[in-house]
Amino acid sequence: MTFSLAVVVPTPAHSSVSGPLSYQSELPLAPGTLVRVPLGRREVLGVVWDDAAQAENARPTSDNKPISGVLDGLEPLTAQWRQLVTFSSRYYQRGLGEVALAALPPQLRDMNTVQLARRLKRQRPDESVVTTQGPTLTDEQAQALGTFESEPGPFLLFGATGSGKTEVYLQAVASLLAREPGAQALVMVPEINLTPQLQARFIARFGETNVVAMNSGMTNPQRLKSWLSAHSGTARIVLGTRMAVFASMPHLRLIVVDEEHDPSYKQQEGARYSARDLAVLRGKQEGAKVLLGSATPSLESWHATESGKYKRLVMAARVGESGGFPAVRLVDMNLQPKRAVFSVQLLHALQQRVARGEQSLIFLNRRGYAPVLSCTACEWKSECPNCSAYRVFHKIDRTLRCHHCGFTEPVPRACPECGNVDIAAVGRGTERLEENLAELLAPIRRPNGEPVRIARMDADSTRLKGALEQQLALVHAGEVDVLVGTQMVTKGHDFRGITLVAALNADSALFSSDFRAPERLFSLLMQAAGRAGRDAAQASASEMWVQTFHPRHPLFTALRAHDYPAFAAQQLKEREQAGMPPFGYQALLRADARTQEAAQAFLQTAAAQAQDVQDADRVVLYPAVPLTIQRVANVERAQMLVESASRVALQRFLAAWQPVLHATKEKGLIRWAIDVDPLMI
Ligand code: ADP
Ligand code: ZN
Ligand code: ZN
Repeated sequence: MTFSLAVVVPTPAHSSVSGPLSYQSELPLAPGTLVRVPLGRREVLGVVWDDAAQAENARPTSDNKPISGVLDGLEPLTAQWRQLVTFSSRYYQRGLGEVALAALPPQLRDMNTVQLARRLKRQRPDESVVTTQGPTLTDEQAQALGTFESEPGPFLLFGATGSGKTEVYLQAVASLLAREPGAQALVMVPEINLTPQLQARFIARFGETNVVAMNSGMTNPQRLKSWLSAHSGTARIVLGTRMAVFASMPHLRLIVVDEEHDPSYKQQEGARYSARDLAVLRGKQEGAKVLLGSATPSLESWHATESGKYKRLVMAARVGESGGFPAVRLVDMNLQPKRAVFSVQLLHALQQRVARGEQSLIFLNRRGYAPVLSCTACEWKSECPNCSAYRVFHKIDRTLRCHHCGFTEPVPRACPECGNVDIAAVGRGTERLEENLAELLAPIRRPNGEPVRIARMDADSTRLKGALEQQLALVHAGEVDVLVGTQMVTKGHDFRGITLVAALNADSALFSSDFRAPERLFSLLMQAAGRAGRDAAQASASEMWVQTFHPRHPLFTALRAHDYPAFAAQQLKEREQAGMPPFGYQALLRADARTQEAAQAFLQTAAAQAQDVQDADRVVLYPAVPLTIQRVANVERAQMLVESASRVALQRFLAAWQPVLHATKEKGLIRWAIDVDPLMI
């Protein structure tokens, strides 16, 4: 007797076959069972999806092949896990197989039964967790935790930087593990850079064996190990970046999303899911409590607390006696000499800090020495031949590097167009800022009479493994007086000795065409301010400096008052009037092609054919436009915005539009993709 099984396999991203395939098996296998099956000439990992009745509907492979093997000893993936994958695939308009298999460690396929058995024997679930006692909670923390424990949620913990959110997460997890033997918790962070410090705190509290990491920086063997540990229930706590939202955790009871506003939670390729949104959904499906945390919540989550969908928990004060926040100083750059990098006031303040032996942090969102090199005699600029962007001048190794396609060349000795040897660096990146500062601060002495120590931290300086940890350790040890960096330095780090933070060049976001730019800027500046004065003794004297040509902009008024709610109210009002998220729903259809004409032609054809698609009358299709950086690595990019006042209508429309898109051919088209709830427009 043979049984028909519906098996989800890794189908290519753009095949129109996206559901399960049908295979034969001599034994009935429970849904969720992991199997090896033939696909084309390969043998791939697959997941048995539904009961045999539904298998009838699964597409038969050409000859209805038998499965090649079962991964014995592994518990089937739970129905809730399969639901999460099914939902994600539908909602984000991608193949089921693509989503399901991306969520599993690649090495699982190659495990034979013997190896698996050996691996699983090493897992020892159901050990009771010994938890180290944490500090006594502050009143605000205790109240937040109390409400969290007694109500259903989901919750948004609106807690200022340094208010002790992490401690609330730790104690929420501790009390869950104490209450429910075997229960599991998922804790997500936006950046891989932030996992080591959080991991250290969790391990200190819960012990090494109970905590596993899950992020894209891990090797395949490490991923497999973490996955097995979570799947078998041995790991009580999974700490991870966005991919961890798909971790198989059969006893999941609590999900924490730290810094929930962070754009890194949105996957930017393949299935473009929002791990934060999926976390909320997963919590609801599995009966796990969800705790989102941020000092500057996303406007979507903030709005959800106003409409009552989420419960808001507030921690306004910083932990410590003074609990103060840094004073915000706005410098009107209109009143400074033309092209001044540092205002007189800011420079003076920096010098004072150095002389007093305090630390400062300066950030500028541009790495490299200068964003453009330009010939002083002709029109030549350091354009990238493959992209519609300039190559950035990196002085350290005298290269011109494209930050979009990676194309790198040595800096030419003379202008390639006219032979002029006088080529000038235009504008400023972190490398140049570091150089400027060294000159400006050279005369200043530290309290011990020694010269100032300046360090730079950005994607270039931290490229080598271990470099970031090393640089952070120097800052923590007080061996750096002024730290220059990109926004990388503003996130999460618990620097104790910094009393001055300065943002240069923040203005461009104020007038960006992306309606989310102000939200991102406000959150960046608040997070940056959060790095100053974390030591209670210095909190009152700490400062956040912003140099701007628009000091009276309402965003800065709110920043000055540390008033996120005022900023959010103003932004939400604008969004409501314009029908923008969270009051309206959006998706992007994006096309990559050999020429811009082909990319746009595809989008226009797709739009023309959308007329007869279900719910077309409830969506608005905007004209096709090139992306801001329209060509990258010789690929032309264009997109079309799709909007609707109804999430359901938008979903129905997109689902019905998909087959039309698959059938739309355009010469020169390379690929297309749908981005649901896009973050960058
Ligand atoms: P957040 O995540 O809100 O920025 P953290 O949880 O990192 O804040 O807390 C900031 C600092 O205060 C940390 O050094 C932390 O160890 C300390 N802290 C947090 N809660 C308490 C508490 N209840 N008692 C003493 N120290 C605390
Ligand atoms: Zn020239
Ligand atoms: Zn390029």
